[in-house]
Amino acid sequence: MSHYGQRELGLLAPYAMRSVDSAGRDHPEPEHDYRGPFQRDRDRVVHSAAFRRLNGKTQVFTGNMGDYHRTRLTHTMEVASIARTIGRTLRLNEDLVEAMALLHDIGHPPFGHAGEDVLDECLEADGGFSHNQFALTLVQELERPYPTFPGLNLSRELLNAQTGRAHKDTKERQVLLEAQVVDIADSITYDAHDVDDAVKLRLLTIDELAEIPLIRECLFRIRERFKDIEGKALRRTLVHELIDCQVSNVLATSQAILNARDFKTAQAACEAGITINVSSPMGEKKHELESFLYHRVYRHEQVIVGRRSAQQRLLAMFDALVESPDQLPKKYRDRINTVGTRRSVADYLASMTDQYCLNQHQEHVSDRG
Ligand code: MG
Repeated sequence: MSHYGQRELGLLAPYAMRSVDSAGRDHPEPEHDYRGPFQRDRDRVVHSAAFRRLNGKTQVFTGNMGDYHRTRLTHTMEVASIARTIGRTLRLNEDLVEAMALLHDIGHPPFGHAGEDVLDECLEADGGFSHNQFALTLVQELERPYPTFPGLNLSRELLNAQTGRAHKDTKERQVLLEAQVVDIADSITYDAHDVDDAVKLRLLTIDELAEIPLIRECLFRIRERFKDIEGKALRRTLVHELIDCQVSNVLATSQAILNARDFKTAQAACEAGITINVSSPMGEKKHELESFLYHRVYRHEQVIVGRRSAQQRLLAMFDALVESPDQLPKKYRDRINTVGTRRSVADYLASMTDQYCLNQHQEHVSDRG
């Protein structure tokens, strides 16, 4: 057995996904001498062009609100960090968790959900647009690191997890525990960093946030440890505490479920519909925080203004390029035959960073207007 196979055998729980049980890749490849298949997946994601572009893509706050807040890339790195902690503690396959986490937001268009919403409207009659689906398009079609086939040729488990994200409403989902770890880590991460960024950007204060029970409880514990803590130190400690209490809750809740059952394989845990999540009381508290953030941060006047101008620009570019598809780069012109003009234009726009999109808008729309 390969040395990483032996390593997994020693370290992972029976319900973890082992690389030896992987369904493999669409284009079979020989094993690597010292990297396991999921390590290779992780590396392929990190070295992809789409991953690098996450650095220039909005998470929640756009570039005109400064550049000290999260981008889509730093969000992704934080998700990977938290997901690995949860995955390692539950003795799941940490390489797979990390690969899935780094992949999870790779399909986001520029300007965050504002960008996604407008592309979805543009493709309303053509099946719509979703960042989760576009992630699959990127890693299966648009990325071209290999000479003989398109895509990153990722392991089936990684592609299945991403397909599961794209079709969340499907009833009979069987989701690997590793993929569920990434989902809950994503939610813990944005709850915490959106609080951090929103307070730092002065969209709200910690006193205002304190009306939310989850925040109030965190502040209570913090003040028991640090009596007179205020300002930046309080904000930073609050972020730590928010992450810590939620991660601890996921671990306690999930470990209890896993201990109570005696799963011999990843497949068995999957088929039993085991859920890796926070407890339901914690879930309710998270929900209150998230709806507060929705109204007070994501719908804040400053965020909405940025949202509107981003949407107008994307819409104008979509119309201009559908009108003159000869303006598309060759790669996207070639795709018109297989996916149609509108989808190819939307994919091109979705692949852009915020700044590239602004520059292209200037070139294709403003300067001609
Ligand atoms: Mg995310």
